[in-house]
Amino acid sequence: MRLRVGLDIGGTKTAALLVNETGQPVGEAECPTDISGPDRLVSRVVETVELALQQAGHSRAYLVAAGVGVPGQVDSINGDVRLAVNLNLTEPYPLAEVLSSALGVPVRLENDVRAAAWGAFHWVQDSEPVRNLAYLSIGTGIAAGLVLDGQLYRGAHDMAGEIGHISVDPAGPRCLCGAVGCLEALAAGPAIAAAAGTIRSRNGQPLSTAEVFAAARRGDPHACRIIERVSFFLARAVYLLVMTYDVEKVVLGGGVTRAGLAFEEPLRNALADLRADSSLAAAMLPERLISLVPTDYNAGLIGAVLIAPDTVPDIPAGR
Ligand SMILES: [Zn+2]
Repeated sequence: MRLRVGLDIGGTKTAALLVNETGQPVGEAECPTDISGPDRLVSRVVETVELALQQAGHSRAYLVAAGVGVPGQVDSINGDVRLAVNLNLTEPYPLAEVLSSALGVPVRLENDVRAAAWGAFHWVQDSEPVRNLAYLSIGTGIAAGLVLDGQLYRGAHDMAGEIGHISVDPAGPRCLCGAVGCLEALAAGPAIAAAAGTIRSRNGQPLSTAEVFAAARRGDPHACRIIERVSFFLARAVYLLVMTYDVEKVVLGGGVTRAGLAFEEPLRNALADLRADSSLAAAMLPERLISLVPTDYNAGLIGAVLIAPDTVPDIPAGR
């Protein structure tokens, strides 16, 4: 029995997925992330792994490797986190090394969107054996992860695909990064919710992002304008990824895409507008280009399991 664990350490929760040697899930757990300091962060991650092991009915002795996705800039060579504001790690921190000694197994660390891109690549293979894929994550922020020629692509500074901070509207709002009109400041979840500030739900509360999509689908004119604008920018982001990396597939995931068809249909309409304007766009943006990650497929967590180091440790006798 050899178990691998995939971990998705988010700003609010940490999720663990345990799989056996044939890749079957055997245990899962979720705990609130403790961002009060690096030591507590690591302790909570270990607790989450222990919970998943308990659920699976196995001891830690069976664990052989861990793959971890974190929201931040990761040095993929040494496993240091350079900057992860959501985890309160603003100084470089050797998270892979510390987790490895705490769990007693080799650990590989990856940026969370890149881990999800790897999970999305794995999912797509069932229906389409593509070699080049972009995964566009739209949630609290916007970022892409890339798989090129069957390999995760990181770039020179582990920043490939960080398109959320490309300025796409000089007249747009100022972004948290300091620039004006970043894609993220126009089309991520908080931007959608802020734009809908004047629309209220029946109980008088501001609308959630999913409710704005639902309102647009019902024909609410203000919500329609917001979603059309968001889709306009996201369609251009998809086109940008296709033209920069010549990928066969763009998979969309992240919290905002959980609106499902209410998210997908306006985006498909915006892509159709691009196709109608240009024969080049028509050739490069075929209908089958985009897919949404299914809501029951956790690309980040599965990607994290899949990046766990492939080692064959000594298995204690009798197991
Ligand atoms: Zn920005």
